[in-house]
Amino acid sequence: MTKLYDNIIYGPVKSRRLGISLGINLLPLTSKICTFNCIYCECGRNEDYSAKGSFADQDILKTQLRETLLRMKREGESLDTMTFAGNGEPTLHPSFLSIIKSTVELRDEFFPNCKISVLSNATTLAKDSVREALRYVDNVILKIDSAFESTIRNIDCPQANYSLDEVVKNMISFDKRFYVQTMFLRGTCDGIEIDNTTPKEIAAWQELILKIHPYGVMVYSIDRDTPCKTLSKVSKEEMASFVDRLVKEGLNCSIA
Ligand code: SF4
Repeated sequence: MTKLYDNIIYGPVKSRRLGISLGINLLPLTSKICTFNCIYCECGRNEDYSAKGSFADQDILKTQLRETLLRMKREGESLDTMTFAGNGEPTLHPSFLSIIKSTVELRDEFFPNCKISVLSNATTLAKDSVREALRYVDNVILKIDSAFESTIRNIDCPQANYSLDEVVKNMISFDKRFYVQTMFLRGTCDGIEIDNTTPKEIAAWQELILKIHPYGVMVYSIDRDTPCKTLSKVSKEEMASFVDRLVKEGLNCSIA
């Protein structure tokens, strides 16, 4: 079963990619808000939630984060990253910039070596306030699931105006180190065949990654319940073959 995060702060959990990670959910606790509607989203599909709910209150977030970090420090716990993810797209929070700034302050006070990570679908990267906020973030992780917009429409189901060319342009012009993250999967959803691992897909994806030239690439496959039950996981061995060319070109690639 897919599920929502029912707290603003959750974890810490051991992340496959980021180490010991304390999650921060800026989205509502009882619904999901996202500019994508991915068929693999572990929070479920957007249409599963009729009431939209409200974004996290900034003061409550700050208090809860301070209390959590204080407790973890007191108990001698370690922390590799604080990760903005949760029930949707974190950069949609109207106070995202000021939340990132206050998180940096708390990080510096309690766990100065801890990283701050943001998982984003990159649809808000044209916004100045989002770009400014992400400049304070250590691990900026931006999603691109295919080099073909038609495939993205089938897998990520963008909810508003979407242009892959625009997203790519915004990434290339972003003067900050970032990772591109890609979910590989295959199967069917709502009668549509899904496969972003065909030779044509992989060749185009490699070309696109080389054109964007991010700091690194994170590839992964399904690990938890997905709203579409007819999707299947891609093995790590296969994913290693997808990134092989990128590794040879000197890109830092991780497979989870
Ligand atoms: S971008 Fe992330 S939160 Fe949004 S629908 Fe896709 S997986 Fe879910």
